[in-house]
Amino acid sequence: MTSFKQAIASLSFVLLAGSSAWADGEVAPGRDPKQPVDAAYTEKIHKYTTQPYFTSPLVDYLPASKNVPTPEAVLGDVAGAPGILPYAEDVYKYMRLLEKATPRVKVFSIGTTEEGREMIAVAVSSEENLRNLEENRTRLAKLADPRTIKLDDVEADKLVTQAVPIYYITGTIHSPETGAPTALMELAYRLAVDESPYIKEIRDGTITLITPVVEVDGRDRMVDLYKWHLAHPREFYPWLVYWGKYVAHDNNRDAMGVTLKLTENVLNTYVGWKAQVLHDLHESVPYLYDNTIGDGPYNAWIDPILADEWQIIGWNNVSAMTKFGMPGVFAHGDFDTWSPGYLMFIAAMHNGISRLYETFGNGGADTQERTLDPEEYARTWYKQNPPLPKVLWSQRDNNNYEETGLLTSLHFFTENKRTFLKNFYLKAKRSTTKPSAEGPAAYVLPADDSRPELQAELLQVLQKQAVEISRSKTAFTVTLPAKKSKESGKGKEKKEKPEKEEKPEPTTRDFPAGSYIVRMDQPYSRIADALLDHQYWSPDDPQKTPYDDTGWTFGELFNVQVVRVTDAKVLDVPMELVKEVRAPGGVKGDGAVFAINNAAEPALATLRYKLRDAVIDAAEEPFESEAKKFSRGSFVIRSVTRGDLDRAASELGLQVTALSAAPSVKTHPVRAARIAFIHTWLSTQTEGWWRLALDKIGIPYDYMSTQAVAKIPDLNAKYDVILFPPVGFGGSVSAIVNGVPMAWGNPLPWKNTPETPNLVGKNDSTDDMRPGLGWEGVARLQQFVQKGGVLLTATDTSSFALSIGLADGISSHNSDRMKIVGSVLGTRLVDDASPIAYGYDEKGAAYCDNGPIFSLSSIAGQRGRRHLGPEMHARPTGRGTQDDPDFTVGRVGVEAPEEPKSEIWESPPVLDEQKRNGYRVIPPANRPRVIFRYADGKDLLISGLVEGGDEIAQHPAVVDAPAGKGHVVLFSINPVYRGETRGTYAMVLNTILNYDSLNAGRKDKEAGSDKGKEADR
Ligand SMILES: [Zn+2]
Repeated sequence: MTSFKQAIASLSFVLLAGSSAWADGEVAPGRDPKQPVDAAYTEKIHKYTTQPYFTSPLVDYLPASKNVPTPEAVLGDVAGAPGILPYAEDVYKYMRLLEKATPRVKVFSIGTTEEGREMIAVAVSSEENLRNLEENRTRLAKLADPRTIKLDDVEADKLVTQAVPIYYITGTIHSPETGAPTALMELAYRLAVDESPYIKEIRDGTITLITPVVEVDGRDRMVDLYKWHLAHPREFYPWLVYWGKYVAHDNNRDAMGVTLKLTENVLNTYVGWKAQVLHDLHESVPYLYDNTIGDGPYNAWIDPILADEWQIIGWNNVSAMTKFGMPGVFAHGDFDTWSPGYLMFIAAMHNGISRLYETFGNGGADTQERTLDPEEYARTWYKQNPPLPKVLWSQRDNNNYEETGLLTSLHFFTENKRTFLKNFYLKAKRSTTKPSAEGPAAYVLPADDSRPELQAELLQVLQKQAVEISRSKTAFTVTLPAKKSKESGKGKEKKEKPEKEEKPEPTTRDFPAGSYIVRMDQPYSRIADALLDHQYWSPDDPQKTPYDDTGWTFGELFNVQVVRVTDAKVLDVPMELVKEVRAPGGVKGDGAVFAINNAAEPALATLRYKLRDAVIDAAEEPFESEAKKFSRGSFVIRSVTRGDLDRAASELGLQVTALSAAPSVKTHPVRAARIAFIHTWLSTQTEGWWRLALDKIGIPYDYMSTQAVAKIPDLNAKYDVILFPPVGFGGSVSAIVNGVPMAWGNPLPWKNTPETPNLVGKNDSTDDMRPGLGWEGVARLQQFVQKGGVLLTATDTSSFALSIGLADGISSHNSDRMKIVGSVLGTRLVDDASPIAYGYDEKGAAYCDNGPIFSLSSIAGQRGRRHLGPEMHARPTGRGTQDDPDFTVGRVGVEAPEEPKSEIWESPPVLDEQKRNGYRVIPPANRPRVIFRYADGKDLLISGLVEGGDEIAQHPAVVDAPAGKGHVVLFSINPVYRGETRGTYAMVLNTILNYDSLNAGRKDKEAGSDKGKEADR
């Protein structure tokens, strides 16, 4: 730590150095000599700054004001002081004090969180700018939508000179990253009161918009934990197992699906204010990583103008802070800019500039000694002044870096605001001219899609993204480009082919009236294009560690048809804008029995739980009635009034046909299963996406930890289905069973106490987070299944269930050779008679992230073996050609019996040798039933990165394994993920609704050459 005097000395040195460094006409950063300083506050800033080079002339003093309160008014100390983390409420209180004290600050409520807490945006600018907000918004809106000025560049230039740009800063989306709120409180104060030319220029030239806390629910939990830690200084403190109500770190991966309130609120604010920048504050690496530039591959749908802006702003930031002598400021590194799922990317996809800082944080407000990894303090070409190997680091240091970075950015942005405003217009204009520039002209979602409800859900996501949706008034036809043959890219092979080979012809496609058209000649075409297009990440890409998902194609993951149309004639089709997309629903026809076709839409499950008293059956075979075709699994509904059903179906977008008589097809009851939903105390994020989905669909469940489920003596008495969704990070078998070591340390409670009033929220609590499921819990789960319950697992919990032997005849392994990083893979329906498959087509798509590779075996306790392909059966070395038999000299040749063959996803046939005293041979009726498998190698990749895909190609993707009287339903894919995979939700919902009829349609025959030998059992 430095003394005040030393710091003042270093300040004047920097100021001197500064004045020469900025002698090129720019305004020098730092205090104006005439600016009065709050001496007491300034002294504390220096006290809490651990090294003189961890600050800058921009933040090493606090300007004094006669009437505007400093953050001390609420914090009781300065921003970044040790031991102080304000709740969101306190941060808001301060922002509202500022609003009262100065006309240069205005606070806006921008919505609430899942737990009902307020989110705010604070505008800081000159009195004049804030007085003219609406007028300014009108100007910015014209630049944001160039159609309003008929793409007139002259008019745009006029607006550019008049408009004041908006720079939007968001803090603390990640709850353990704690520094931003105090930094942003102080930043707002500085921007409002400092009269130095540098700050004044920002204030007069730009509107700074600040959401100091994005994840408000998580912030309050984090502050609770920190307070607990302060009250128990010698003890270990619990980890932040819940942030928001549903997810943790993934709250920053929601900018595609927009399922969380915080995403929706920030998106609406960004788009509503027509902001030019969205700058999101994070903490991880030392000391300030401006990952705006990041590393490749860049998202393929951004405007190249934005790629330039990233470089310009990012390098300016590094340059400015390098001149201050602040170590550890850099702008390249391992962050690729491929996925549009990050909060900041809202700006990139809406014609603005996305930015992100990682500053260094201690996960709280303790001042601590921090030791870095060698790669963190190594000097590299992009890190000329790297961080130090070991330092004392404080929250104040963090706040100094955050504020200095932001102030230099704001200043640079303001000085170049005409350029950035013009770019804002140009990017919007180029989005609007997309059909004639790079294309496509539109995406079409046909009116006759068999999944109108899922189609509506997809379009609703686009509408949340501020994309305009139109509907055609007439039928129309478009020309689709000729499909390229697979060889056409390989010149060498092409040469060998005869010239006369026919060129593939363009085709046409007809769409019925009422088809949805997403026009690409609109300002936010970019986000629609990015979500609906396909992604390809080359295995040869120099970037070997993708930062996040590599594929997300929404049409595929929602299981609805999306047609990319390059034919510009589509834009001339008569069409109307649709304000609110809704799937048509309700009852048609006459009769007291009702039927709903099953197309694997989640709304069917909603209906089942909503109409508790209705008798609903599922048809086990397809049928036709009233000239309508109904697929397997279609609902046959009785004991409900037409009015009730009509109301529910209209709301849900389900089309119901009244039948004069019940169909004569075999049916079984569809019941509202009683569900237990298990989570661990290790991590709750991945299961959080499942909770969110079930809550939105309206499926009730009892939410409990592995600790709690282990204590329920008779699970079958209370539940029909247990969902054990993926654990995610740290979900190994031993961690699930044993939890966190208890041989040392103290209990880690997760419960509400006077010290921690916000911890539990609407989730779960425990006296000690450390214990896991335990062996008793394992026994309970096994008992539950054996006695007839259904346990559903996915990815790591599937591996867990198999490791502890809950099911026979299936094994799971992971491959080092395979690299599938959050990709969309092709799936194939194997058993269409299984209720789990109801409503699905033969070909499908699913999300996979290096899923476990399942293999079946017909022998209990034996690992399924991987077929290595035909090489395995190749003949041994010997006489003759490859196809000849070998011979044994001196003996008449014998021919070996042909080895029975089976497909990779099947249970291999039982060999004669295995049948000898075959007590371990699993009878066909007890063998796992493969419902879906991964597609063949050549069809596996739909979007994203697939390397070594042959390891998992054709292997089972969803398996129903009988166990005792019950079932373990195992997913290798993750069917419920980030609100993006709605097309696979019904695989889980089908399991729930048909829990006591999962054996429907089961064919128990031997595969391969044994086929038919064993009778059905
Ligand atoms: Zn973060």
